[in-house]
Amino acid sequence: MKRYFYVLLFLFVALSLPAAGFVADAYAAIGSSEGNFKIAVVRNASKIEVSNVDYSASKEYCRLFERNKIAKNFTAAISCSGGSLAINGKKTGAASVMIYPKKNSYLKINSKPYRGKFLIKVDSGSVTAINHVALEDYLKAVVPSEMEQNADLEALKAQAVVARTYALATKGKHKSAGFDLCNTTCCQVYKGVSEENPRTTKAVDSTRAQVIYHSGKLINAYYSASCGGYTESVEEAWPGAPAVRYARVIECPHCKKDAKMSWTYKIPQAEFVKKMRKAGFAINGVDSARLYDKTRSGRFNTVEMKGSFGTLYYSSEIFRKVFGNNNIRSSFFNIVIDKPKSVTKNFKFNGIDDIIKARADYNTDLLNGYVTFKGSGYGHGVGMCQHGAKKIAASGGSFRQIINYYFTKEVNIKKIY
Ligand SMILES: [Zn+2]
Ligand SMILES: [Zn+2]
Repeated sequence: MKRYFYVLLFLFVALSLPAAGFVADAYAAIGSSEGNFKIAVVRNASKIEVSNVDYSASKEYCRLFERNKIAKNFTAAISCSGGSLAINGKKTGAASVMIYPKKNSYLKINSKPYRGKFLIKVDSGSVTAINHVALEDYLKAVVPSEMEQNADLEALKAQAVVARTYALATKGKHKSAGFDLCNTTCCQVYKGVSEENPRTTKAVDSTRAQVIYHSGKLINAYYSASCGGYTESVEEAWPGAPAVRYARVIECPHCKKDAKMSWTYKIPQAEFVKKMRKAGFAINGVDSARLYDKTRSGRFNTVEMKGSFGTLYYSSEIFRKVFGNNNIRSSFFNIVIDKPKSVTKNFKFNGIDDIIKARADYNTDLLNGYVTFKGSGYGHGVGMCQHGAKKIAASGGSFRQIINYYFTKEVNIKKIY
């Protein structure tokens, strides 16, 4: 019996070790209890306006003013001069300086208030402002920028957990540039305190420290506005990205049923050709378009276009880049080429010149037609569908149900501090 006890004890200790190691890793990854994030909010500007500084706390900054006899006005303009920071036009010799806010207040960068402190530094002949902010404070401004504040609380909570996980999983994305994350859709949209509101702050506070794990690792918690009916797998959205079990193709009835999720972008051929050529694609009037490499979710990776220029193949993402993500909202689309009636008029052959003329007319006529993109969804479609999340919450679902729906039941939510 005693031997069994020791075997059981050994098993218990052996099984607990990886778990203990995992907790330690989670803390190591975060650093301090709430994680200090470095977010670039102004990059490579000729001038940054700074106000609401606590001069006694910002010792180095204060010294720059005194040493260079600069009046400590409410707002200071910081620029770059001869490789060093200049304050209100006066060279200081410093390459960077840390500034702290007045008590119970916020630093203002170009009139926008932000939580935390700021590092202002010289950055290749210009100036960059990097916000040093605690993760939970950062999220208070991110969640309202990424989801409407009037969504149900559970949807906002799901958004908070997903944004927190995404921030931790991608921390250091811009390490080579000297900060962790930027403030645009490249990372997550972050505009500071003026974006905050009580509902989204409640969503952040009530899910404090909760993040999504799969197989003992933080997941890359992708999300997009609307999946259009099926979410996309990570490896099909971004060829070359390794497949992960928590980002699969999942049917989303909420987007499928909702006609509002479909969109149309119709552009005159002449304009279509002009914009494509401007982006460097040698194209002319398009005669036909076909879609290839259908992904499991129903999106297409390759578009074939035919015309007098021959046959060209484009990645579907190219159209989103050239015509804008707001016009071609997802890669979940079809292309229709409208040919003006004159294109199909009867052609009489009397000699080679007729063929040349007919071809020229055909091209001119094509340019009078339209190229129409008809699609569904908004964004890359990987991970949590925000439209679906809002619908699930509106019908009484919890933030856990939302997360388990879009990232599969294999993931779990852990509180890490
Ligand atoms: Zn970024
Ligand atoms: Zn959806």
